[in-house]
Amino acid sequence: MSQWPVVGHRWAVQQLRHAIEVGEVPHALLITGPESVGKRTLAQQLIAAMLCRATGEERPCGRCPSCRKLASGNHPDFYGVESEDRTTHLRIEQIRDVERFLTLTPNESPCKVALISDFERATVGAANALLKTLEEPPTYAHLILLATDADLLLPTIVSRAQQIVLRPLASHEIEGALIATWGVEAGLAGRLARLAGGRIGWAVRAATGQEPQTQMEVAVEALASALREDLPSRFERAQALARDTATLAETLEAWLTFWRDVLLLQTGNEVALVNLERRDLLGSIGKAVDIAMTLHILAELDHSQDAILANANAQLLVEALMLELPTLS
Ligand SMILES: [Zn+2]
Repeated sequence: MSQWPVVGHRWAVQQLRHAIEVGEVPHALLITGPESVGKRTLAQQLIAAMLCRATGEERPCGRCPSCRKLASGNHPDFYGVESEDRTTHLRIEQIRDVERFLTLTPNESPCKVALISDFERATVGAANALLKTLEEPPTYAHLILLATDADLLLPTIVSRAQQIVLRPLASHEIEGALIATWGVEAGLAGRLARLAGGRIGWAVRAATGQEPQTQMEVAVEALASALREDLPSRFERAQALARDTATLAETLEAWLTFWRDVLLLQTGNEVALVNLERRDLLGSIGKAVDIAMTLHILAELDHSQDAILANANAQLLVEALMLELPTLS
């Protein structure tokens, strides 16, 4: 039997394939996990399998009219919505569209499937609008929600959906997949797997040039500069960084990885370093601050990531971070 082309998450894949086989896919499914960990890829396989019309073989077959329509974005029984970019909300009108879609009976499949991505970006009004559909779904209707963390959603939503939690992948899983599936050269695959922090989607985009790996390098460069700047310069930097929330999220992620490296050096775990190219800078910082300070900065970065997801004032957050950073001579 062939497998779904999903990297890692074996337990989740098995559970969903079993649900397909016995015809018991839940009406409401919530797939959670960090950015780029593979939520969408898993959901796409599930949806294709649900709509696939092949009998007596592994679904999705990839060949039947239903599979082909879905792949070309023209399946009448599938509807997907997401926030327009990572800085905007999911609006109540978008949820109403989902409701309308699910109200009408299926065109050609036994079921209808709606996929809502970035559900942590739903306004309270939008989330509440979805509750009715979740409470009394038509028998043919299936709703799949993707979100980074169930804690960011209304408890009334979470309690009405079956949840599948995806965790960051092990770096050897990412490395193996980059080599086997995407034909990435072994040295680069290893390096990207280390940088990815368990996020296969990021690693693939970096390997295929869709996401400049340099975004991470730019972030580390900005940090290195900030450590040598006075406060007014740091505040200017904070203002520039806060303008684009999507890039800011990537920057904070890179800084977290960097400060974890500082901690690894300080605790004598050099083999696990991600930012090997910046070994000298890591060493200088490791000497300039103590472990308590490193832990404090890591906690502040972690808090900032959560706060930005919760739509806090980005500029104030980055300015507060800049105040915490030590100054290197
Ligand atoms: Zn098919």
